[in-house]
Amino acid sequence: MQKMHKIVLISPTATRPGFISKFFRFPPLNLALLAALAPDNDYTIIDENIDTVEYDSEKIQKADIIGLTVMTAQAPRAYELADRMREMGKTVIMGGIHVSALPEEALEHCDAVVVGEAEGIWPKLLEDCEGGKLQKIYKNKELPDLSDLPVPRRNLLKRKNYLGFNTLHVSRGCPFNCFFCAVSRFFGARYRFRPVKEVIKEIETMIEADKISFWRKAIAKLWDKAPVDPFAFLDDNIFGQKEYARELFEALAPLRIFWGGQASVNVATPENEDLLKLAAKSGCRFLFIGFESIDQSSLTGIGKKVNKPEMYAQAVKLLHKYGITVLGAFVFGFDGEDETVFKRTVDFAKLIKLDLAQFAILTPLPGTRLMEKLREEKRILDENWSRYSFRTAVFEPSGMSPEELTRGKEWAWQEFYSWSSILRRLPPLTNLPRLLVYAISNIAYRLFRRPG
Ligand code: SF4
Repeated sequence: MQKMHKIVLISPTATRPGFISKFFRFPPLNLALLAALAPDNDYTIIDENIDTVEYDSEKIQKADIIGLTVMTAQAPRAYELADRMREMGKTVIMGGIHVSALPEEALEHCDAVVVGEAEGIWPKLLEDCEGGKLQKIYKNKELPDLSDLPVPRRNLLKRKNYLGFNTLHVSRGCPFNCFFCAVSRFFGARYRFRPVKEVIKEIETMIEADKISFWRKAIAKLWDKAPVDPFAFLDDNIFGQKEYARELFEALAPLRIFWGGQASVNVATPENEDLLKLAAKSGCRFLFIGFESIDQSSLTGIGKKVNKPEMYAQAVKLLHKYGITVLGAFVFGFDGEDETVFKRTVDFAKLIKLDLAQFAILTPLPGTRLMEKLREEKRILDENWSRYSFRTAVFEPSGMSPEELTRGKEWAWQEFYSWSSILRRLPPLTNLPRLLVYAISNIAYRLFRRPG
């Protein structure tokens, strides 16, 4: 019989832990899913954005395996934790997008790396941990099929620490392969979907497990919604394949939930209005859209073919028509941009009445074509991964200095969340639910999401 391992899975911190994390972070669902892939083991999950890693705690002292999930900005901290855990005699395994791109770097700090997705690999890896058969690299030959995935073990996560606890995925992969993004390389350049039936079953188990407060129950009743916290689909584009989206939204409608997700801007066009209507009917109240840039030349440069700046205003208007709050994400630092880009972008975001916006600095993540290009051109200024958090310039921009780029991005945050901007973008006072979401989220961004 296979040994039952004591496993501590850690999501290391990349930024500032504490109260802010509660507003802006989702729980590490990938770790809860990993635990479900080989459930006959004793798991503890530590999200360092919320909790601290206590080396002398009983859980860590008794653990034989430590698993770390690593995004680029988390890498230095992950390596620090890994080095210490190995000194303590633990077997350390790493996975995630950063170490999948740079497994050799990670192997200086850990015993094995899972490259890509862990389905089909994790149970075998745990088996190999016995008897010294552990290999250095584990990688699936094919991208895993997403049917019959187990339900993530959300009971290992501390629900009370997250405002947005009810998260799930329905798909992986992206066909667009944008120049600056690692998603297509990591998850494949085509969409893979979970069967809708299985997604609905998972949501039903989550509704059952959600014990919300008396007040939130009362609010749900007022809106004739199920007594459950809102759901967030973490997929890169919940509308990626229209037939699937239609099937999903039709199946979601009877559950009477609220949900949010990510989408490409090209979904919000008059031709897709029936799909948007269906999304709204199924409970969609929030969409995150990667606008990236208001300049066509920048979008062409990064290969984001689905975005056309002339679509943006109409897209936001159409989403508002169906009561959907829009968070638009913009990136600064593309080749050809000069210092006028900050004001032009913020003015535009105000003009089209974006409910919320995020402003990031173009960041060349390992494994992307952007990183290869900037390396070739010798424009990378800094390889300290902790600075790869989209907040500071780590490369030489073409049309301004790195300091001007960082300062401009900070100005954009401040200006967009100034009181005058918040008032100017206010939704119609007659739409009370949207108004409430707008006010709370803008104030939360203004108070807690400091630039820098
Ligand atoms: S930026 Fe979005 S559309 Fe482009 S490859 Fe990444 S996930 Fe796909």
